[in-house]
Amino acid sequence: MPRSNPIHKVRNFGIIAHIDAGKTTFTERVLLYTGRTHKIGEVHEGEATMDWMAQERERGITITSAATTCFWDAPAWVYPDDKDLQTRFNIIDTPGHVDFTVEVERSLRVLDGAIAVFDGVAGVESQTETVWRQAEKYSVPRMCFINKLDRTGADFYFDVQSIKDRLTDHAVVMQLPIGAEENFSGTIDLLSMKAHIFIDDQNGKEVRIEEIPADMLEKATEYRQKLVERIAETSDELMDKFLEGIEITIPELKSAIRKATTKSEIHPVFCGSALKNKGVQAILDAVCEYLPSPVDVAEIEACEVQDESKKVIITPNDAGKFAALAFKIASDQFGTLTFFRVYSGVVNKGDELYNARTGKTERAGRIVLMHSNNREDVDAVYAGEIAAFVGLKDVRTGDTLCTKQNQLLLESITFADPVISMAIEPKTKADQERLGLALGKLTQEDPSLRVASNEETGQTIISGMGELHLDIIVDRMRREYKVDTNVGAPQVAYKEAIRKSVEIQGKYVRQSGGRGQFGDCWLRLTPMETGSGFSFDNKVVGGVIPREFIPAIQKGCEEVCQNGALAGYPIIDIKVEVYDGSYHDVDSSEMAFKLAGAIAMKEGVLSANPVLLEPIMKMEVVVPDEYMGDVIGDLNSRRGQVLGSEKRGKATVVRADVPLENLFGYISDLRGKTKGQGTASMEFGQYAEVPRSIQEKIVASRGK
Ligand code: GDP
Repeated sequence: MPRSNPIHKVRNFGIIAHIDAGKTTFTERVLLYTGRTHKIGEVHEGEATMDWMAQERERGITITSAATTCFWDAPAWVYPDDKDLQTRFNIIDTPGHVDFTVEVERSLRVLDGAIAVFDGVAGVESQTETVWRQAEKYSVPRMCFINKLDRTGADFYFDVQSIKDRLTDHAVVMQLPIGAEENFSGTIDLLSMKAHIFIDDQNGKEVRIEEIPADMLEKATEYRQKLVERIAETSDELMDKFLEGIEITIPELKSAIRKATTKSEIHPVFCGSALKNKGVQAILDAVCEYLPSPVDVAEIEACEVQDESKKVIITPNDAGKFAALAFKIASDQFGTLTFFRVYSGVVNKGDELYNARTGKTERAGRIVLMHSNNREDVDAVYAGEIAAFVGLKDVRTGDTLCTKQNQLLLESITFADPVISMAIEPKTKADQERLGLALGKLTQEDPSLRVASNEETGQTIISGMGELHLDIIVDRMRREYKVDTNVGAPQVAYKEAIRKSVEIQGKYVRQSGGRGQFGDCWLRLTPMETGSGFSFDNKVVGGVIPREFIPAIQKGCEEVCQNGALAGYPIIDIKVEVYDGSYHDVDSSEMAFKLAGAIAMKEGVLSANPVLLEPIMKMEVVVPDEYMGDVIGDLNSRRGQVLGSEKRGKATVVRADVPLENLFGYISDLRGKTKGQGTASMEFGQYAEVPRSIQEKIVASRGK
C-alpha cells in the first residue's frame, strides 16, 4: 500500500513554552483549524483535548508528550507542480514544567522543528529558556509565536526584544500586530505588505486582506527593510541583489527563509492570540513553508548492535531497512501505547519487531495514529512518520526497534539519575497488590522514575527528578491504578563515597559442632573519580581463596554498596580489589564468603574517611529588581552559592548552586515573597560533599 502523504509533506513539530504561556490553548486551536476537534475545549474549563490525563487538567499543566496527527493544506508555493497540498502534521506535545525536562529531551529527539509560544506580556520566561537551549542542543529549527496580544499589558516589541536579549540574535520579525490589548485586530504580513484583519465572529477562521493602515506604513516599511536585509544575509545571491538595489521577489524570500530556518540561522517570529483565535492559521501555513520535513534534516547516525563503534548512516527512505525509536510509552485504559518515529523503512501491521536492547522480538499487532480525540488504526507507518503501537510488552523509552536481519541501535536517550526519593506505603492489602503493577507500568513509561524496596523496613521507595515529579506519580497511582498510598516526606538522594584508600580483612567464622561456616578475605578499597560507579577486581594469587568463591565476595560487596555503610545511602565511585584471604576445606561456602566480603566492605568504608554527597541543583531565579537583595539573602541562607546575576529586560536573573535538601517548597516560597512575580527553574547539577556538621546530623538520625 502506498503512503498517503509523501515524506516531504510531513512535518513533525513540537510546541515549547513556559507554563501558562498558552501552549495548550494554542494546540487546541491548531486541532480546531486542522479539523479534528469540533468544539473548542478551553483550558480554564479543563476540557483541553490534548491534556488527556486527569491531573494534568486539574493542575493545568501538560506533563506528558502525546503525539497527535492532523492535516493542513500548505500554501501553494510549498509544493510546486503539485495540486494536492495536504500536509501531515505530527504534533509532539512537549511539557513545559522544568521537573519534566526528561520528557522534553525525549520529545525533542524525535521532532524536526518547534514553535516556541511566548506570553505577550511576560516575554521570555525561564522554562522557555531551558527548553530553547535543549532544542539548541539537538539543533531543532524553531519559529516563535508571541501569544496573548489581546491581554492588558501585552507588548509585541518588548517580547521581541526579550527573545533577542535572552534567547537568540536570529529572531526575525515576519508580522507586526495591528492594535494592542483589546484593540488587537490584525497583523501586517511583512512579505506581502498587506494587513490581515481578523473577522471577529468567525472564530478567527476568516481574515480580510486590506491595505496597511496609514499610521503603520512607516513602521511596516522599516521592519520589512530589516527583514529583507536579514534574509539577504543568508544567501550570497540575494545579498548581491540587495546591494545592487534589485527587488528580491517574495518567492525568493520565502525559499531563503525556509533554508535559513531549517539550518537554525534564523527564527521567524509571528504573533496573535490563541484564545481569541487570532493568528494561528498564519503560523500553520508557516509550519509548511518554513519548518523542515524529515528529508530536510540531517542524516541520523546509528550503530551496530554487536559493535557499537561501527556506525551506520540512516536516511529517511521507505526503501531503507526498518529502524524506529520508541520515544514515549503511555498506558491508559486501552492498554500500552508505544509512540515511535520511523527513521527509515516501513513497518506494517503484523511485522516482527526486534528490540535491540532486549534482543527479543515482539509482533506489531496493532498500529494507531492518535488524533486529538480518537485513534485511527493504520496498516503501515512510513519513514519520517510518527504513530503508536498498541500492546507491546517489553519496550522502554529510548529503545530502538528494527528487524532481526538488520539489527541496529539508534542513539538512545540518556537520563540522569534521580535526585529525590520518597517512601510510599499501600493503605490496604488490596492496594498492596495493585502497587507493584502500577509501579511496573509507570517505570516503563518514565525512565526517570526508579523504584526500590528498603529491605530493612519493607518500604517501597520511589525516586525521581523533583518534588513535583513524585507528586504526580503518586497522583497517577491513585487515579489511574486506584492505588491509595501513604507517602513519607521527600528525601534527598544522598550518596556515600570514601576519601582515602584502605586495606581491610573480613572474616565470617562459625565453627561449633557439625558443619561450620568459614569465609575470610582481604579487600583494598580505593576512591575513584566522580561518575565512575563501582568496580570489583580479583587480585587473589596462588588460590588462597578458591575461584568459585570470588563472585560471592563481589556479591557481598555490591549489597553493601547498594545499602550504604555510613547512613544507608548507595556508595559510589569506589574500586574494590580482593587480594588475599583463606579458606577451610569443609566449612567454606559461598554464603560464608559473601558475608565475609560484606563485613570487610562495610568496615572498610567506615574506616576510609567516608563522606556523604548531596545533589546540588543549578538554579535560576528571575525576579523584579526590588526583590533581588531578599532573594540572594534567602539563597545564601539555604546554603546556596550565588554565582552571579544579570539584568534581563525588566528583571534580574540570579544564578546559584543550591543543595536540593534546602529547596523543598522553594518555588511557592518565592512566589509568596515576590507577590507572585518571581520564577525559578532548577535542574540537577552535580553531587557535592555535605558539610561535616550536617553530615553528622544525618548519620545520627539514620543510625537510630
Ligand atoms: P499552557 O500552560 O502553556 O498550556 O497554557 P494554557 O493554554 O493552559 O493557558 C494558560 C492561561 O492563559 C489560560 O487561562 C488560557 O485561557 C490563557 N490564554 C491562553 N492563550 C491566551 C491568549 O491568547 N490570550 C489571553 N488573554 N489568554 C490566553
